[in-house]
This record gives sequence, C-alpha cells and structure tokens, in this order.
Amino acid sequence: GDQSLETDIHQLDDDTVARIAAGEVVERPASAVKELVENSLDADASSVDVTVEEGGTELIRVADDGAGMSEADLRAAVRQHTTSKIEGLEDLSSGVATLGFRGEALHTIGSVSRLTIESRPQNADGAGTKLVYEGGEVTSIEPAGCPAGTIVEVDDLFYNTPARRKFLKTTATEFAHVNRVVTRYALANPEVAVSLTHDDREVFATTGQGDLQAAVLSVYGREVASAMIPVDADELPPGPLESVSGLVSHPETNRSSREYLATYVNGRAVTADAVREGIMGAYGTQLGGDRYPFVTLFLEVPGDAVDVNVHPRKREVRFDDDDAVRRQVDAAVESALLEHGLLRSRAPRG
Ligand code: ADP
Ligand code: MG
Repeated sequence: GDQSLETDIHQLDDDTVARIAAGEVVERPASAVKELVENSLDADASSVDVTVEEGGTELIRVADDGAGMSEADLRAAVRQHTTSKIEGLEDLSSGVATLGFRGEALHTIGSVSRLTIESRPQNADGAGTKLVYEGGEVTSIEPAGCPAGTIVEVDDLFYNTPARRKFLKTTATEFAHVNRVVTRYALANPEVAVSLTHDDREVFATTGQGDLQAAVLSVYGREVASAMIPVDADELPPGPLESVSGLVSHPETNRSSREYLATYVNGRAVTADAVREGIMGAYGTQLGGDRYPFVTLFLEVPGDAVDVNVHPRKREVRFDDDDAVRRQVDAAVESALLEHGLLRSRAPRG
C-alpha cells in the first residue's frame, strides 16, 4: 500500500474515552457520593438518604424526595454533558446557584459502574421510571412504582476499570472519605434531613429542622455539640468577606486531625489556607500543638471575589487577598471565644 497513508494513530472508541475520563471526576466512592448528594440538593430535596456497602465499593445508594425526573429527563440525564442547570458560560460568570452544572456526573459514574436510577417527578400521575445503564449505554428503561423523587444506585464501582479499583484503600479508609463528604453536606444544609448508613449501621441522621446546632449534635454527638459556641460577628475588619458565621468548639474540645474543620465559601465546602490560619490564629496557644477545634464556619463573599468554576475534585480555594481573609476570620472567631470567656487575654496584634 501507499505508506504515506498509514498511521498508528487512531480514534479511541467512546466507551474507552469515557472510562479514561471517568478517573478525572470519580476517583473513589466518596467522589460519586459527592456528585449524587449534590444532585439531590440541587433537586431541592428535603431528605437525602445515603446508604453504602463496603465503603461504597460494592454499593452506593442515594435516595431523595426532590424534583424527580420523567422518562425523557432520565434518558437525557445519563448522556454526556447534559444538564438542566445552565445554558452557557454566561450563566457561570453571573454565579451559579446550583452545586452541579457540568452535566457529566451521571454519565461518568455510569461508565464505570452498574447504574440504576428510579425516579418520579413530584405531582406526576402514574408510575415512575427505572433506568439501567451499563457499559456506557442504557440497557433497560421501564415504568416502575416508586415514590416521588429519585433513587440512584451505583453497584460495583470500577468493575470495568480494574486498575482504578486496585488503587482503592481499605473499606475503613474509603468509608471515612464518604463519611466526611456526607457530613459536610449535612452540616451545610440543616434544613435537609440527611442520613448515612454503612453496612446496615446508621452512622448519623439529621432531623432537617434547620438548626445548625441540632445538625452538629446528630453528626458529632452530644459531647461535641455541647462544646460549640456561635460565631456571628457584626463587624469584621476590612476585606472580601461579607460575613462569617457558624459554630466553633471550646478550645479543650479538639482533635489531632483537621478533618473537623468544616469551612464553606458561599455554601460550598472548601478548604483554604487563609481560613484555616485565621481559625488557628484565634485559638492561639489555647490549643496544643497539632490540635484542631471542631468548626463549622460559613463565609460569604461577593460572587466575583472567588472562582467557583474549579475542577470538580478541587476543594482548595484562594482569595485575591489572603491576608485580609485571615484577619477577618481570626477576628470573627476570636470575638466569639472572648465573648464566652474562652481565651486567656492576649496582647493585641497589629
Ligand atoms: P449536573 O448536575 O452537572 O447537571 P449530572 O450528570 O449530575 O449533571 O446530572 C444531569 C442532570 O440530571 C441534572 O442537570 C438534573 O437535571 C438531573 N438530575 C440528576 N440527579 C437528579 C436528582 N437526584 N433529582 C432530580 N434531577 C436529577
Ligand atoms: Mg450533578
């Protein structure tokens, strides 16, 4: 043949492309749980029940009582880059109100698991719909009796990507990641009843009555809840934060892990060095070395002062003016601790 027309470079098939790309979005069971819980919250659910088996590697089920989907919605939802949440980039620059908007989670999870979705729209007549998606395609779709809302079930995550499956950690470690994700959303949405069950054991369940203190009690237990004090600074030093509010623990209620620093920017669970340093600065020497308080802190900034269009896995944010954010958080937490007589007096800092 004509050698100049031969090449080893060829197009990958769609299923291979999807499985490779899946690793970017779904790294481990906790990342799938995050996407599904976000979808339930975006659907205005008032209850979200998360059930996992073996750390989420065998089964993840997220059941909600949100808006639900019709048969046509279901067919569309599992396709690639399909979303009901934005029309185009202009919606991103004006600040997205929903947690999701990329339209890739269901498609991606479905390409690396056996995915079943049962759904019925609120106020719809008749039965709902059950869709099964496997190996990158819809293998069955039929009417099914189900409550209004949505139940997503993810079986055998990574069954068709053995390399990724092999890199999963122990059940205990994978479950710890799942627990952290669900906890973050439960604390940020006390008006939603969120429950987490692992291997038939209920780990926590919030009441959904809208009270952050009650959510902390459900998630962390009585000892921690009784040691929390409110942060609600009326006046902050100058900087990008418009408000800082939430709950922080007495200094003596602490742990050796940063895990219990739950911080949110405009409702999104994020970590930021400036925020952590502000919190730790407020406690000062009151905490022993490498000890961290329990913190559930909500920061509000104008939409344009922080970039939400980050990578789906990326939880770290940076502000234009980290120093000002650090001072603002420090001041807000410090004034709460002082008000409750929980700080030894210290020299004012410049
Ligand atoms: P995104 O959340 O970025 O839009 P997803 O792939 O996560 O993308 O979901 C695709 C679409 O499916 C969503 O935009 C939404 O319309 C619908 N959807 C997904 N999960 C639910 C749910 N739990 N309840 C109602 N609708 C849902
Ligand atoms: Mg989503």
